[in-house]
Amino acid sequence: TTGGPLLTVENLSLHYGDALALNGISFTLAAGKALAVLGANGAGKSSLARAVSGLVPTSGGKILLGGEDVSGWPAHRVRKSALVHLPEGRGVFRGLTVIDNLKMAAAVVPGRKARKQAVDLALEIFPVFANRRRQSAGLLSGGEQQMLSLARALATAPKLVIADEMSLGLAPKMVDLVFDGLDRARQAGVTVIMIEQYVHRALAFADEALVMHRGEIAWAGPTSAAHGEVLRHYLGDA
Ligand code: ATP
Repeated sequence: TTGGPLLTVENLSLHYGDALALNGISFTLAAGKALAVLGANGAGKSSLARAVSGLVPTSGGKILLGGEDVSGWPAHRVRKSALVHLPEGRGVFRGLTVIDNLKMAAAVVPGRKARKQAVDLALEIFPVFANRRRQSAGLLSGGEQQMLSLARALATAPKLVIADEMSLGLAPKMVDLVFDGLDRARQAGVTVIMIEQYVHRALAFADEALVMHRGEIAWAGPTSAAHGEVLRHYLGDA
């Protein structure tokens, strides 16, 4: 790409049957930035994540990833191109060791050297696994498995990670570790879209925020400007 945005969403719409879940969504996200997608229950956050990931067919609009038009691509093809979507931390192989989980994830990365780098980066991002490479993933705690699923995602060397409610059900200490991991991933150049119940943490983490309301973008701007009235109005708190 030529320094353009990593992700461009243009006039995106999505229906479930007759119900309109996304309506005229447009935004851009620059490479290496983090975007927090906020909104009340049912506002359309997960639908947006699924649409960008190719997990649900859209009914209109365009999605450009790294300058490439991926609209209508199936999820596996979008994933190959640049993106991982992490819905609530699944996809850990409990019968395999930590390191084998990471190596298996990295199998999609072309080139032996790049594969090794991707695994090393995942381990760097989650130092908690450094001494536990040979441990069976099934023996990790729920929170650690969540972290391993994020580590696996990073081992695929994605350009964009969509973290959909990653902190759901995690103890506060684990939430800290997940946020730390995402922060290190961003420092390593990974672009992040975060859907998060902890609004203030998401705002502290992200560069940009997008507040959704009934399938539309109600507010968009830098996180530094997303406070007080914006949050009270659309999220009913803060
Ligand atoms: P939450 O925070 O509760 O997950 P959300 O902001 O992620 O909410 P979505 O899950 O995207 O919102 O839902 C947006 C709208 O689409 C809601 O009205 C929801 O009921 C509806 N919806 C979501 N998934 C489906 C589906 N598979 N079939 C039909 N309607 C759906």
